[in-house]
Amino acid sequence: MEQKSGLVITAHPGDFVWRAGGAIALHARKGYRMKIACLSYGERGESQFAWKQAGVKLEDVKAQRRDEAERAAAILGAEIEFFDAGDYPLRSSEAMLDRLVDIYREVKPAFVLTHSLHDPYNFDHPLATHLAQEARVIAQAAGHKPDPTRAYTAPPVFLFEPHQPEQCDYKPNVILNIDDVWETKRKAFEILAAQKHLWDYYTRVALNRGMQGGRNSGRAMTYGEAYQRLFPDIVEELK
Ligand SMILES: [Zn+2]
Repeated sequence: MEQKSGLVITAHPGDFVWRAGGAIALHARKGYRMKIACLSYGERGESQFAWKQAGVKLEDVKAQRRDEAERAAAILGAEIEFFDAGDYPLRSSEAMLDRLVDIYREVKPAFVLTHSLHDPYNFDHPLATHLAQEARVIAQAAGHKPDPTRAYTAPPVFLFEPHQPEQCDYKPNVILNIDDVWETKRKAFEILAAQKHLWDYYTRVALNRGMQGGRNSGRAMTYGEAYQRLFPDIVEELK
């Protein structure tokens, strides 16, 4: 049987750790090939700590963030591909879209995880979502780089939790139990030294989602990760 896979498309490295680290680690542990497409190194917008050193250069910050992101991805059990498109602002290009389409076709993900549709605090995030969605649909177009032997079905899209959900019109309808991989997710937090102020914040988020997961399922759980499905779940039986 072909190995299952999952695709994660993020604007910055921190996002795949805080928002989807549990899902990545959990599915990697289940044997999925997990691939992260990281559109920037977060060098301007999520590297505040690095910029406090006098005379620091953009290239140095990028190298430091790349190293952190690679180590975090390795801990979570994922492979990572960087697009180096810059952040604050992130801008898309035809080449990026084309590469993302190729990734969808190559990875054939069972699901894709990306940002919320809106984020008035961070314009890089919805841009990444737009690219993720556009590439997902173009990958379905038979006339784009035609190959009659290709088998590809657009995967379900799960939006991971933004920093301030209410302002982002974000309403989760899936809570993933990440108890089995919480320690792994927390270890990945600790690699992101530039954002130490968020370690405890995202631990609280996971605890709150875990409490809500227990409440909604009647099953004991401690840590959760919230997602919003964009498309209907097609089922044969209601349960
Ligand atoms: Zn971000």
